[in-house]
Amino acid sequence: MSDPHHRILAIRYGHHARKAAANFIGGDDHATDMPLDYYIWAIVREDAPPIVVDTGFDAATAARRGRSLLRPVDQGLAAAGIDIAAVEDVIVTHMHFDHAGSLGLFPRARFHIQDAEMAFCTGRAMTERMIRAPFDAEPIAEMVRLLFGDRVVFHAGTSMVAPGVMVHHLGGHTAGLQVVEVATARGPVVLASDAAHLYANITRAVPFPIVIDVPAYLASLKRLLELAPNLDHVIPGHDPLVLQQFPPVTNAADVVRVDLPPARSIKECL
Ligand SMILES: [Zn+2]
Repeated sequence: MSDPHHRILAIRYGHHARKAAANFIGGDDHATDMPLDYYIWAIVREDAPPIVVDTGFDAATAARRGRSLLRPVDQGLAAAGIDIAAVEDVIVTHMHFDHAGSLGLFPRARFHIQDAEMAFCTGRAMTERMIRAPFDAEPIAEMVRLLFGDRVVFHAGTSMVAPGVMVHHLGGHTAGLQVVEVATARGPVVLASDAAHLYANITRAVPFPIVIDVPAYLASLKRLLELAPNLDHVIPGHDPLVLQQFPPVTNAADVVRVDLPPARSIKECL
């Protein structure tokens, strides 16, 4: 059987203005603006419900953490044509506040997470304030409740969530981050989440400052480019270039198709 060809929507829901120095270990010589965008993603399939990747944060979290919530995640999904009630599978790339903050939005879904991430966010590492900072207790407690409701699916390393949808464990940013490889008409597209916040983290081979294991992070960058044919097939977790370069979805603000190629090759944009 040939691989299915899925569509993938990147849905922007948040924004954070900042300088470039905040995005690289060791900083950046230029005092230029280098904002972050916050996305969730939806894998739209022919004959099966959409699969959502990550769940964003809510208004209270945005206010507490000084981020701009451009629209609530459920509104972003609705604008993209995704019926939340129909979603049966949600892949949680990792448990940071901006990726796992609205688990309760999906009444029927199973939640896919790596063994290593669940162990990490409920274990000894959380006694360290610095490591704990990007985590919120409530989404973690919610994930535990979902586990006891038979709604959590664990993965270890590489495994298949559905035909044409694979997860791969790529550590470094957190202990159990997983990226999502999706079969599309242009070949595999890898939703990198925070294995790379920005394309520049990949091309400079310099980690984003939130990192628990620098060698593992750098190895994960290399692995991204093994999973994907080239940079245009990698979708970083927070890069404004994604919204600027990939084809917009008509009548859906801040939603782009990343299963299609970018308008200009990403290398030329950097
Ligand atoms: Zn993030």
